[in-house]
Parts: sequence; structure tokens; C-alpha cells
Amino acid sequence: MGIAKESLEETVGLEVGVGGERMIFKPFENIIIMSLFPEFDQPKFDESKKDKIGQSQITYKQASSILTACKGFMSGYDFTLNPYSGCTFGCTYCYAAFFSRSEDLLKNWGYWVQVKENALQLLVKFRKKSLKGKTIYMSSVTDPYQPIERDLQLTRSLIDELAKYHQPRLVIQTRSPIVSRDIDLFKKFETIQVNMTITTDSETVRKTFEPLCPSNVSRLKAIKEVHDAGINACITMTPLLPIENADEFAQKLLDTGIKKFIIQPFHSEKGKFVASTRENAMQLINKMNWSNDQYLQVLETIKKYIPDIGIGKDGFKPI
Ligand code: SF4
Repeated sequence: MGIAKESLEETVGLEVGVGGERMIFKPFENIIIMSLFPEFDQPKFDESKKDKIGQSQITYKQASSILTACKGFMSGYDFTLNPYSGCTFGCTYCYAAFFSRSEDLLKNWGYWVQVKENALQLLVKFRKKSLKGKTIYMSSVTDPYQPIERDLQLTRSLIDELAKYHQPRLVIQTRSPIVSRDIDLFKKFETIQVNMTITTDSETVRKTFEPLCPSNVSRLKAIKEVHDAGINACITMTPLLPIENADEFAQKLLDTGIKKFIIQPFHSEKGKFVASTRENAMQLINKMNWSNDQYLQVLETIKKYIPDIGIGKDGFKPI
């Protein structure tokens, strides 16, 4: 889920050596990894480095930084952490698309991802100045558990590093069932919350607005698993898209056992819709009679079941 604004300089960055050590990567070729930190569980670039995932293009970048000081919507947090730039979930309303470096990347949002291949090495530098107690939001302009993460395990390596050496107050934000893979690491944190975004109860709506995202059912199942493992979990309806049956939707959310929820409205004019998607999305919105009034009505219904639901920025305040 993209929330906070972040400079693309920070997101993409320049090539940097780390503590006199360098990782040598040759995109799309076999690679050699030289590390001064052999104890790391290195991300699995050597096994799975590829230039395509589905229809999406993968590139590998050296980033200049991995933690970004927060401002704006996320100002309550100390840092955002984005292991990737771009996101192959490609939600049609994603504002993070607007931080794309070129018109072409913006137009092709959802069909490219850049891997910050030195992300772990950059984070290791922070061992000298502990991040204990700092609030970190992961991630603001990408999904840390988008499909490529299944093989690369870059996000996993960062979470492992944070658990072992820092113990920050960590919030993880995703739309991906892959998140439940890392429950073993989440258990090592004193303070952590895993947020799963569920935007609608309708697969038709989901397929129209989030065609490349996992199904609602798989997301609910994964976040329930996280919750059942004793990890703080939260469902974020951000943004709330058209809903078919608000009562049943609220009930389904509560059936996970989760107690924390955040909601915010959908603004159709703020997305990165390409012409064809916009037409489909707008048709569906009109057909479902979806408007701000409708949102407020659904909110009232949901509040009958979840009276203390968090709203907008206030709901996202750090744990
Ligand atoms: S999951 Fe969707 S909203 Fe979040 S960063 Fe990816 S495309 Fe954007």
C-alpha cells in the first residue's frame, strides 16, 4: 500500500559500496556475491535472479539509502522502509505510481519492479546506531510481499536483521498472502503489527481495481494465520472500494478474530487509471452507485460491528 511520499532519489539511489565491501551483481547474468558479513541469510539473488516475473520486468539497483525519514501522511513514523521500487500488484488507484521516474514507468505501473539489491547491506550499517524503539513503516511505496519476494526473500532478510539487531516498532503493510511465511520472524519482535489491506467484499470489484492482486479470500486467510500465531494484526480498508453487502463484509472481517481495523475513502479522481481501466472502473462505480455518501453509509454499517475503527491518518498512527 502506498501512503507516504518518498523521493525517488531515495527509492532508487546511486551505487554505493558498504563498509569497503561490495556486492557484485550483473543483472540477468550469473552473479558472484562477495560479503564481509557471511553470517547473513543473504537474499536469494543467485538462485532466482531473473528479468521477468509474469509479464513484469525486473531490474536490480544499488540504492543510496534504505530508511527514509517520514513526513506528510506518515509523519508519525520515524522511517519508511521500501525493499523494492515499483510494485507488480499494480493497483489502479495506487498513488505511488506518480513517483515513477518517467512517463513510461508511470504508464506501465504494475509491470515493473526494481530490486534494491544492496538493501540488507545498507541496513547493516545501522547496527552502529541502534533503531531500537524507532517506528518503521514497511512499506509506503511498494508492497514488501509482492510476488518476487517469494523467491528473493529480500524483505525477509531485512526483517531478520531488524529483529536480531534493532527491535524497532515495526508496522508491515501488504496485500499479499506471502506475509504469513515470515511469522517465525514476526514472533521475534517485542512490538510489531502486520496490516493486510482488504478493499472490498466483491471479487468483481477486486478484479477491476486490483487485477494483479491476490484474491480477498487468500488475503483474509493469511492475515488470520498471522493473528492466530499471536502476532498483532490489522485489516486496512484503504481505500474502501464498492461493497456488495456491508453487514456480511463486517462480519467476515470479524470472523478472523482480528480486533484492529482502519478505513479510508476511495477517491476515483486520484488514481493512475489508464483510459481502459478508468472506463471499466467508472462503469462499475456507477453501476454500484458508489459515491462518498455510499461510503459514509457503509462506514456507518461497519461501525455497528466495529465501533472503534481507525479512520485515515489517525488510524495509521504508529503502534
Ligand atoms: S500493493 Fe497496490 S497500492 Fe500498494 S504499492 Fe503496490 S500497487 Fe500500490
